Amino acid sequence: MPDDSTHGGGEHFILDGKALPDLVQSIINAGYWLIGPAVRDGAIIYDEIKSCSDLPRSMTDTQEAGTYRLQQRSDQAWFGFNTCAQSLKPFLYPPTATVCRATREKQGYSITGPTSDTTKMAFLGVRPCDLGAVLIHDRVLADGEYADESYISRRENTLLIAVNCTEAGNTCFCASMEAGPKASQGFDLAMTEIIENDDHYFVVEIGSQKGRSVVSTLSLASATKEQVLQADRRIRPAAEQMGRSLDTSGIRDVLVRNIDNVYWDSVGRRCLSCGNCTLVCPTCFCSTVQDVTDLTGAEAERIRRWDSCFNLEFSHIHGGSVRHSPKARYRQWITHKLAFWHDQFGTSGCVGCGRCITWCPVGIDITAEAHAIREHDLQAAPVKEKTEV
Ligand code: SF4
Ligand code: SF4
Repeated sequence: MPDDSTHGGGEHFILDGKALPDLVQSIINAGYWLIGPAVRDGAIIYDEIKSCSDLPRSMTDTQEAGTYRLQQRSDQAWFGFNTCAQSLKPFLYPPTATVCRATREKQGYSITGPTSDTTKMAFLGVRPCDLGAVLIHDRVLADGEYADESYISRRENTLLIAVNCTEAGNTCFCASMEAGPKASQGFDLAMTEIIENDDHYFVVEIGSQKGRSVVSTLSLASATKEQVLQADRRIRPAAEQMGRSLDTSGIRDVLVRNIDNVYWDSVGRRCLSCGNCTLVCPTCFCSTVQDVTDLTGAEAERIRRWDSCFNLEFSHIHGGSVRHSPKARYRQWITHKLAFWHDQFGTSGCVGCGRCITWCPVGIDITAEAHAIREHDLQAAPVKEKTEV
């Protein structure tokens, strides 16, 4: 992906808390469709933001395994909540998309597509874990062997405004996955919200030229060294506050050598194969294609749809499914995320956002399952050769 970001360490400015509407207006004036956190159906999700009154000001959330509750805060924080129920995935990699269209002609047929999506999208309030997930999708969907042209065109027109975390939720573990609580790369602007006595302001770090041009109209004062340090001091406790952690040391080999561990029966008995975890996961990208024709047979469309490795049909090959039990499907999901992604993409498939824990209807917890497999590890010897997926 084209990237003019400075990978952290950029210039810092101060934005007064009361001036956030000016930043929002500046983004909209620059022609962006603005997407940010908003309350919908009792949860905070990313949706269209027309003004600051759409933001969930003074709101927070409590997240636990299988539990999500919104609550009121006692302060006026603009971004005083944890991860949104969904990530940026539905915007950058929509649940359905036309891959190509075939039209019958006098002789043969013509094929068009895929089409580019050049909508300028700005995302406000992106948590560092979600930023990390976008960078992982860039590797897979833009820079990988099978690039997705529509994804690339969307990403080329994206403005990412991160908000560093100064508090952490019970299901968060991004510190373990080195994806937070501070945004370190890939952002256009990164903001840290500070509320102290009567002071309420943001320390804004410039990450790219695109980010700089959005704030250039606001006449912001430069941040002092002390204000930048103060922002870092606010972020640090979030790492210790995280309700969960995942020991990643040697996790690939632990999972690979325990493919036949009887412990998988335990999670297999609890998992409903509902697929919620894959839908909310910001990095899961598995999809299927469907060919649809009109009644006359003159037009046909190939449509890409999100799929899930928890669907029985997902692994259907000649003769049936190769993963016929919930146990096999859960094992595939976690082993792919935490082990085989390293082989395929050179990165973990998990950024520690905790959504799969919060939104699992039976509260299955990826950190607890990874820990349990380590505890039940039958073999101590490290795996020397890569195992085929
Ligand atoms: S596996 Fe779970 S915690 Fe990790 S990125 Fe996906 S949803 Fe977030
Ligand atoms: S782990 Fe939970 S969310 Fe995922 S498929 Fe099983 S029951 Fe559904």
